[in-house]
Amino acid sequence: MTEEDRTRVIHVDRGISDGTRTVVPPIHQSANFHSEDQRSFSAAANEPRGHDFYTRYGNPNHTHVASVLAELENAEAALVTSSGMGAVTTSLLGLVSAGDHVIGQQSTYGGTASLLTNLLPRFGVETTQVDQTDPEAFERAMTPRTRLVLLETPSNPLLRITDLRAVTELARRHGALTLVDNTFASPVNQRPLDLGADLVWHSATKYLNGHSDVSAGIVAGPAELVDRIWETGIITGTTLGPFDAWLLLRGLRTLPLRMRQHNENGQAIAEALETHPSVAVVHYPGLRKHPQHELAAEQMDGFGGVVAVEFNGGHQAANTFLDRMRYPRRAASLGGVESLAVHPSAMWSGVLDEQQLREADIPPGLVRLAAGVEDSADLVNDVLEAAEGL
Ligand SMILES: *Cc1c(COP(=O)(O)O)cnc(C)c1O
Repeated sequence: MTEEDRTRVIHVDRGISDGTRTVVPPIHQSANFHSEDQRSFSAAANEPRGHDFYTRYGNPNHTHVASVLAELENAEAALVTSSGMGAVTTSLLGLVSAGDHVIGQQSTYGGTASLLTNLLPRFGVETTQVDQTDPEAFERAMTPRTRLVLLETPSNPLLRITDLRAVTELARRHGALTLVDNTFASPVNQRPLDLGADLVWHSATKYLNGHSDVSAGIVAGPAELVDRIWETGIITGTTLGPFDAWLLLRGLRTLPLRMRQHNENGQAIAEALETHPSVAVVHYPGLRKHPQHELAAEQMDGFGGVVAVEFNGGHQAANTFLDRMRYPRRAASLGGVESLAVHPSAMWSGVLDEQQLREADIPPGLVRLAAGVEDSADLVNDVLEAAEGL
């Protein structure tokens, strides 16, 4: 994102009229909107992504947020939803039908994996999951019925990189749409539409909102596709509440500032732990030793705050590391101002057996650290002390 974009993120939604002179948009805590006459009522009811009819169809707070998000992702249009999963499920239900084929990644967010292995097949949509680090694996999985390719880079939790230029180009050649989960990078670090993707989606619960106090999602791309997803959204009812949309807008204003610190902290922690005797491997695309560092540097402007660390001491070492850390607390999620950590094999222990954990790329000694925006030196000292002698 350029300096100019950084300015526009603060001002781009100024022209949206809500009849007030407030500097900050008011919260339109209303489920519906009245019209002067029959003609304007029916116009409001039929305008895609309008905001003067009924909040499930759209609300002025949605319009403000969507215009800033479209600016950030360099998209023609954006749609906000009640969660990241709401965004991807609504997009899929809007774009694919029984008999279609969808390709996804083996290493992908758990909810997206369930969508691919469970929900879509139940509706007659065939799915294939491939190794994201090999663009040819996507090519081999293509069938004449492939309608959509679901990408995620860097992926959760091992931060593997997908070559967005190569995969979006081959999908286009096969007549398939691409939908990229850009949650881990944020649009400050990576803009998939500029690299050839058709659509981008986010868990706005993470970096976009940035304060761990809202559950939200977005999807952005060409207006024609976003309108189709909106038409499905008014059926699935994944509506973001006006107050949550207002909070999300407040969070977005500081996204570029926050990402700068997340990037600095992620890099500092990864470098500090990389050579630590207790650590087997650090997965972070900003490290020169990351097997896909060059590709990451080509398509990203920064590498984010998530660092995956594998301890030599396995499950017990990972657990002790979490117990010892002073700042990062044990909690799901990431992207907030406060540092958090999860021990994925412990989190999934009731759900997946050892074999499944291996297949999902979750080693027992793995910790996913999500660096917040605290002082870098404080976080580095904290993780070094916690890793001592493990
Ligand atoms: C959290 C997350 C999601 C799901 O988003 P919700 O807002 O929790 O529905 C999807 N993808 C990634 C990469 C995530 O981290």
